Amino acid sequence: MSSVAIIGGGITGLTAAFYLKRRGVAVTVYEATDRVGGAIRSVRQDGYLAEFGPNTILETSPKITQLVKDAGLESRRLDPDPAAGARYVVRYQRPIEMPGSPLGFFTTPLFTLGAKWAVLREPFRPARRDGVEESIADFVRRRLCREFLDHAIDALVAGIYAGNPEKLSVQQAFPRLAALEEKYGSLIKGQILGARERKQRGEVAKDRAAKFSFDEGLQVLPDTLCDLLGDSVRRNTSVTQLVETGSGWRVHVRHDGSEQPVEHRAVVYAGTTYALERLTLATRQRLSFAPLTEIRYPPVASVVLGFRREDVTHPCLGFGMLIPRVEGFKMLGTIFSSALFPNRAPEGHLTLTSYVGGERQPELADRSPEELYAITVADLRVLLGVRGEPTFRHHYYWPRAIPQYNLGYGRYRELMSRIEEQASGLFFAGHYRDGISLGDSIVSGINMAERVAAVVNR
Ligand SMILES: Cc1cc2nc3c(=O)[nH]c(=O)nc-3n(C[C@H](O)[C@H](O)[C@H](O)COP(=O)(O)OP(=O)(O)OC[C@H]3O[C@@H](n4cnc5c(N)ncnc54)[C@H](O)[C@@H]3O)c2cc1C
Repeated sequence: MSSVAIIGGGITGLTAAFYLKRRGVAVTVYEATDRVGGAIRSVRQDGYLAEFGPNTILETSPKITQLVKDAGLESRRLDPDPAAGARYVVRYQRPIEMPGSPLGFFTTPLFTLGAKWAVLREPFRPARRDGVEESIADFVRRRLCREFLDHAIDALVAGIYAGNPEKLSVQQAFPRLAALEEKYGSLIKGQILGARERKQRGEVAKDRAAKFSFDEGLQVLPDTLCDLLGDSVRRNTSVTQLVETGSGWRVHVRHDGSEQPVEHRAVVYAGTTYALERLTLATRQRLSFAPLTEIRYPPVASVVLGFRREDVTHPCLGFGMLIPRVEGFKMLGTIFSSALFPNRAPEGHLTLTSYVGGERQPELADRSPEELYAITVADLRVLLGVRGEPTFRHHYYWPRAIPQYNLGYGRYRELMSRIEEQASGLFFAGHYRDGISLGDSIVSGINMAERVAAVVNR
């Protein structure tokens, strides 16, 4: 009996499988599609490297650094050009660099004097500790001010979740912010005082964490893990049914049109929650995945365009620009991909990766390629002074991109914990449970391997 079935060959499933195997536990990864990596999708074409999913990994935990080392990828790791640290937010119809220091904050044209004053007053505002769940929009209006929400947080939320700040739960989607208020009574005080504690734990805040990728893009990581796992990974194989047997799980897998049961000691679900619609659960306690399939993943289109350097007025030196809704553009934001890492565009050219859709304008994401290119180029002409036509264009449509940790999301996490308690040997890991970033998914996979190994080695 192969000990552990891992459902999903995204970064969570592959990481969990890799560390289980290193601990001597037999694993099989079932991946429904013909490729590994899930939301990671890097394509090299015509000298450009297009990242349609994540562009960077945030090194928020030493566990992430260790995975790169354990996978033998240290020599292929790329750290961003130090000159590319700037981040821009659009205001007054142009990208303005986000301040990187307290002095910069007081002199930036990004915020009015009123918003700057609201930030200064934040440590003196009363803390709310009644445990009532709040949207990130309400939280920011209460602790800071409306301008900060409309001109900064709205753009940030679009950049991270492609989400709606009026719906995203601060406790679920931004737990660190909620914890700062709970513990220190203020975001600013907590930012200063909490830094020491994070250092002791070896953790780095997301806004300060180093970012990295690999020479041929992020796809290098899942591809390498898949190679190291060898024939433990079964592509084009979807799991359709899980039956609790008493000694473990009967996992029904479909491959090449035929279905067969495979016995496993434990199962880790590292797929997406919407894919649970097609996965039947049969347990003694009659548990159901159904509520989890309600979790919303809005559609997003990733549009990757190449331009001749001389056709773009803006220097595009930096990470990229975020666009708040109030500015009235159609794109959510743009990453200056070729400024971050070398070898992302041919000599004398640059690559810009833009996002369209999300909760802000979901109806735009599935437009035709021609319409998406037109939408993106029109916005880039105004914002970055792009002239001429793109020398490279490619896009990818994600019908369901990123799970929204909206108000009430806690009930889904509670249900996962309840299923784990009642259905022995069934586990949930990944972006829908432990945080939506790539780094969060890696840490989720590593922690899951530790947890499952303890159970199967008992
Ligand atoms: C457009 C976009 C941009 C992003 N940008 C960033 C970024 O810049 N930085 C960042 O940190 N994060 C970013 N993310 C998020 C990050 O990429 C994901 O959170 C992470 O890759 C999720 O990994 P995962 O393994 O948990 O899930 P996934 O990558 O979704 O993998 C799940 C896998 O399970 C498989 N599967 C599902 N059901 C079954 C079944 N029944 N049987 C077999 N296989 C099944 C699927 O085919 C899929 O391959 C982005 C995501 C998207 C979509």
